[in-house]
Amino acid sequence: MRPPLDTSGGRPTSGAELNLARQLVERSGISCVLEPFLHADVGRPRQLSLLGFLAACQLNAFHRHHQAHLVEVARTLNAMSDEQRLGLGITSWDPAESYPRVERLFVRLCQVLESGVAGVDAQWFATQLARSAIPNDALVSSAVAVDGTDVETWGALHGEAVTVELDGEATETQLLGNGPPRRTKTPARRAKVLAVGSDGRKQYTVDPDARAGHRSATNSRPAGPYVGYELHLGVQARDVRWTNHIDRTTLGPEVPGVITTCNLVPAGTHRGRAVVDSLIAAKRAGHQIDDVVWDPGYSLCKPGSAAYPLAQAGIAQTFQAVTHQRGSRPFSGEALLIDGQLFSPHLPQTLHDLPVPPRGASEEEKLIHEAKFNQRARWRLVRHAGPDADGVTRWRCPFCAGLLRSRKVPKTMRSSRRAPLVELADNVNGCCSGVLSVAPAELDLSQRIPFGTTAWRISMGRRQVVESVNSALKGAFVDLARGFFRVLGQVKMTVLLGFTLAAYNLDRVRSFRAKQAQDNEAPRRRAKRRRGTWADVVTTPNQVAALNVPGPSG
Ligand SMILES: [Zn+2]
Repeated sequence: MRPPLDTSGGRPTSGAELNLARQLVERSGISCVLEPFLHADVGRPRQLSLLGFLAACQLNAFHRHHQAHLVEVARTLNAMSDEQRLGLGITSWDPAESYPRVERLFVRLCQVLESGVAGVDAQWFATQLARSAIPNDALVSSAVAVDGTDVETWGALHGEAVTVELDGEATETQLLGNGPPRRTKTPARRAKVLAVGSDGRKQYTVDPDARAGHRSATNSRPAGPYVGYELHLGVQARDVRWTNHIDRTTLGPEVPGVITTCNLVPAGTHRGRAVVDSLIAAKRAGHQIDDVVWDPGYSLCKPGSAAYPLAQAGIAQTFQAVTHQRGSRPFSGEALLIDGQLFSPHLPQTLHDLPVPPRGASEEEKLIHEAKFNQRARWRLVRHAGPDADGVTRWRCPFCAGLLRSRKVPKTMRSSRRAPLVELADNVNGCCSGVLSVAPAELDLSQRIPFGTTAWRISMGRRQVVESVNSALKGAFVDLARGFFRVLGQVKMTVLLGFTLAAYNLDRVRSFRAKQAQDNEAPRRRAKRRRGTWADVVTTPNQVAALNVPGPSG
């Protein structure tokens, strides 16, 4: 027997909030799709309507620092006026019954989503909500930044997290921090394994879907294993409007950093599969994505599950290449394949292997390293024709494309003087033997802007938007730490998460618009005042008077 829950003291709902929640829920189309499947309990009248339940969940999530607890939803419903409840189709309300009703409808809803009878799942549910909070005119760029964040299970771990075994597929693409192991005085108590799931992975808690994963360090705790989920988010980022592929990149206008794609998966799940399908599905549904900025955790996935399907869907990737993705790889054609990029075979040896700046390097150090990459970018092959039906692309050599000039290649001497003049080896005759066709299989690590250049770094900087979202979800907006959810299982958590992400998006759009309005209103900054002009140095009789004569106030 559970102790009675206190469902009083909820925050009253204003008319404006209720309208907003209601509109958002209606825009999501969730009610229409799920309603027919929730009428299974024939006989007992359902006093809590689906609309009422969804709106109350959304209202709870509107508040900063809310918790995704069903008891809060019950409190919100209890604190509404009879009129407000009636407007949501809730008749004959008994406050003492509110929690059991909320829980019953929630469980039923989750069953419908889990069974798939309605043709939709929990991820659809959460994505619909998150998307409904984004007005059409706020979704304007075609770039998304992707990252994952850890979400611990509410289920208790018996033993210490440091002893859990990383048994997921993501382990292969995990960059485990190589910091010193944490010293403990007593040996760690081995985490108890409760069962092995149908996926063959260990279950450490009563949460049937929570698995072991690795998370990176934050300010408050070291890197290490944990048990729970990984939340993958795609966040709108600015477009690359223009780039010279060397040292300059112009980003498009600022855009609100809203969450466009979300997927909560058991920790340790293959990262590519957790995100790639969602991105491609979003593109098919009309979100014109053509550029994804992400970290090595994704780009390290086998290309068959990440780079190739994305490229096929016309989505390019921008990422920080890590050690084993770097360097020269064998290439069948008349080109060099270095750091995933095609270069002229005449590229000087000194530009083959270039070191990246160390972690935490200063701006100055970065520029010193990038100078070499920028120099090398002049030797890149330039795409001449986009992918055909087989994904084959056609490339021109840098001399033919006008990026470089050489006396050995007479035709280049007629091109722009701005292209650097380079020396080619004595035995070289001409620059290439024509346009090169390349199969997509060889370009899995290719990036639109050559890796390591200053232009690339500006583009890669767009990753910051998803880091901001992660940190907002871990403190400033809500705290997705253990205890945020008090339900177990991927479906239940995903359903509740949907309302939180929708509320976050709404907040983002609102503050983006407020900032824009402020910028528009702010007076134009006056040009810097010139000093030392005649007005400054020539003393007029009036000024003399002002200096010598005390003013009226004395
Ligand atoms: Zn050529």
